[in-house]
Amino acid sequence: MRRADAPFNGKQFILNKNTGEIHDLDRESPLCCIDQIDPENIFACDTYAEAVLFSSVIGIQRNGCAHCMPERNRG
Ligand SMILES: [Zn+2]
Repeated sequence: MRRADAPFNGKQFILNKNTGEIHDLDRESPLCCIDQIDPENIFACDTYAEAVLFSSVIGIQRNGCAHCMPERNRG
């Protein structure tokens, strides 16, 4: 479920800057625990590629969420 308010701003993808986990809010599961993520650790964007690029820029190891992006999850 997308969220209109900051820091989500209605975007589809969320990168957790603390864990490197990327979520697809259009396929969100309760197990994603999106609402537990510190807003300071959230980078929101329109595409998966943007989330990947941003994780490289800030130098963190990314991983697709096992619950909403299993095809991108590397365990
Ligand atoms: Zn997720």
